[in-house]
Amino acid sequence: TTPGGSNPKEEKIVVTVRLRPLSKREQLAKDQVAWECVDDHTIVSKHPSQERTAQPSSFTFDKVFGPTCINETVYEGVKNVALSALGGINATIFAYGQTSSGKTYTMRGITEKAVNDIYQHIMNTPERDFTIKISGLEIYNENVRDLLNSESGRNLKLLDDPEKGTVVEKLVEETASNDQHLRHLISICEAQRQVGETALNDSSSRSHQIIRLTIESTLRENSDCVRSFVASLNFVDLAGSERASQTNADGARLREGCHINLSLMTLTTVIRKLSAGKRSGHIPYRDSKLTRILQHSLGGNARTAIICTLSPALSHFEQSRNTLFFATRAK
Ligand code: ADP
Ligand code: MG
Repeated sequence: TTPGGSNPKEEKIVVTVRLRPLSKREQLAKDQVAWECVDDHTIVSKHPSQERTAQPSSFTFDKVFGPTCINETVYEGVKNVALSALGGINATIFAYGQTSSGKTYTMRGITEKAVNDIYQHIMNTPERDFTIKISGLEIYNENVRDLLNSESGRNLKLLDDPEKGTVVEKLVEETASNDQHLRHLISICEAQRQVGETALNDSSSRSHQIIRLTIESTLRENSDCVRSFVASLNFVDLAGSERASQTNADGARLREGCHINLSLMTLTTVIRKLSAGKRSGHIPYRDSKLTRILQHSLGGNARTAIICTLSPALSHFEQSRNTLFFATRAK
C-alpha cells in the first residue's frame, strides 16, 4: 500500500460536508439553525416548511462534520487522499460552498495539517530523499495570476506540454527547504490573495485559489532500481458556489459573472461525470482554466476529496440545499 493506506484503483470521490456554527452576527440577527448533523454520515433539514414539500430533507455522505468539529477532525476525513501524493498519486482537495460558509477557514486548516503529516512522513522515511515544491495561483475572470510572484501580471498563459500536460507559463515554483519554509511560502500565497481581494472588491468570492505541492521522492543508494515517485497535491479554495447558480436565476450576466461560472460550472460537470463512472463519455476538462490546470489531478489515477461547507443559518437555506445537491451528485 502507499502512504496513507490509499488504494490507487479506488476511483470514488470522497465527499464530506462541514456545517459551521452560527456566527456572532447571525446570532445577533436572531437567525435560526436550519440543519442538524444527526450522525457521522447524515445531515437533516430542520426547516419548518420542509415537511410540506417533496424535497428530500435528509442527506448522507462519506462523512458529515457538525459545528463542534475542529479542523483536525475534518482533516482526518480527507487525510488518505492528501497522503496518497507521497506515494506518487496525484490528489486534489476542494472546498466547495457559498461565500461565508467556511471554505477558506477549512482549507487553511487542512493545508496546515497536511503539511505537518507530510513532514512527519519524511522524518519517518529516512530511506527516501524528498523534494517538496510549491506554486500558488488564483483564477479570477478566467485570468490566471501567480500568488508567489506579484510582478507577473494577471493573465498568465496556459501551455500544453507533451509530457506534463497543461502548464502555466512563467508560474513560479519554489523548492521548500523545510516545513517552516513551506509554511512561509503558503502564507505568502494567502496574503497575496488577500491583496487581490481588497483591490478587486472581495475577489475571494469570485476567484479560485490553488496551492499546489509537488512531492518527489527517490529511494536512496539503490543503483539498479531507482524507484522515484512524483505527484501533485492540490488544495483548492473555490469561488463561492452562489456564482454557479446565478446564471439560472437571471439570464443576463456581467462579464465577470459569466467567467466565474465557466470554471465553477465546468468543474461541477467534470465532477459529476467522473463520479458517474466510465460510461459518462467525454469529460470537458478543456472547457475552463480551472479544469485544464487540474486535469491530471482529477479522475484517472488521481484521488479527489471535496469538502462541502455549509452555513447553518435559515437565511442561507436555499444555498445550503444547493450545496447538498451538488455534494449528492459528486458522490
Ligand atoms: P468562505 O471562505 O467560504 O467565504 P470563511 O472561511 O471566510 O468563508 O468563513 C466565514 C467566517 O466564518 C470567517 O469569519 C470564519 O472564521 C468563520 N468560520 C468558518 N467556518 C468556521 C468553523 N467551522 N468554526 C468557526 N468559525 C468558522
Ligand atoms: Mg474564502
